[in-house]
Amino acid sequence: MTNKVSNIFKYCPTKDRVMVDKEKNKTDEELYFEAGRISFKALQEGAKKIKKGVKLVDVAEYAEKLIKDEGADWAFPANISQNERAAHYTPSFDDESVFGDDIVKLDVGAHIDGFVGDNALTVDLTGKYKNLVKATEDALKNAIKTVAPGVKSTEVGAVIQETIEKAGFKPVENLSGHVLRKNLLHSGLSMPNVSWGNEFVIEEGMAIAIEPFASTGRGRVTDERLVEIFSLRKPVPLRNTEARKILNYVQENYPYFPFAERWLNSVSSGFKFKAALKELIQKGVFETHPVLRDEGLVAQTERTVLVTKDGCEVTTK
Ligand code: MN
Ligand code: MN
Repeated sequence: MTNKVSNIFKYCPTKDRVMVDKEKNKTDEELYFEAGRISFKALQEGAKKIKKGVKLVDVAEYAEKLIKDEGADWAFPANISQNERAAHYTPSFDDESVFGDDIVKLDVGAHIDGFVGDNALTVDLTGKYKNLVKATEDALKNAIKTVAPGVKSTEVGAVIQETIEKAGFKPVENLSGHVLRKNLLHSGLSMPNVSWGNEFVIEEGMAIAIEPFASTGRGRVTDERLVEIFSLRKPVPLRNTEARKILNYVQENYPYFPFAERWLNSVSSGFKFKAALKELIQKGVFETHPVLRDEGLVAQTERTVLVTKDGCEVTTK
């Protein structure tokens, strides 16, 4: 997933949860690479399914199933954002829509014991926007070459911006990558896509999701009204039994990471569900992650890296 800069996604776990260490003998670094491998496989295999006439929900569920089958957990719902939509769309369970002449961003993430691999790519079903997609791939490559201990995040942002502008497009200035931490998709540090973004000094051992977005429009996203992705913010006492049921389920299953409305379908549905969800949002229990849209067509490429002594290594491969 990405981060909207004006609305930094800081998740503060409110529930102490004893994580069952599935991989007791593995180091944090090994877990980052294992989650990265699975995340990358889900991305590659999921992308192969993106074809005209195929349902969006089938691709999302396929990629998500692969993550579980490989022994990891979901770090967030499979984002499938088309055309002007830059990020944060995931199909609802009854979404009947199919791919057409679209520019499709697939963004998937897996975690093992809280260690995340986050990656994304763009499939151009129009065949007309190869350069837009390539601009984000080149920007990512150049960014990865730049990342090293002591380098400022804004220097990486400048490299991304320059690569995308040279290709004739606009970087999306208010979307950014993010530093990952255990059980945190966004640690509070943003990895910018422009030179004037959030500044921090890169350190050895940091896990960073780098995700250039390029646009044929103005390069600035706004929120749609539509929300399909949520995360747990702060549990409060609830009278509504349906809302309590949903909250209990989320606390049990997705205490740290974003989840899809689609994932709650087995727990609650219909009018009761809609009313309960509304209450959970209004009371600030759930944070919303609205669909993000630019005025132009948007492409995205993302990988997660671990910063080494003198550079970085991609974990999502
Ligand atoms: Mn991300
Ligand atoms: Mn992502």
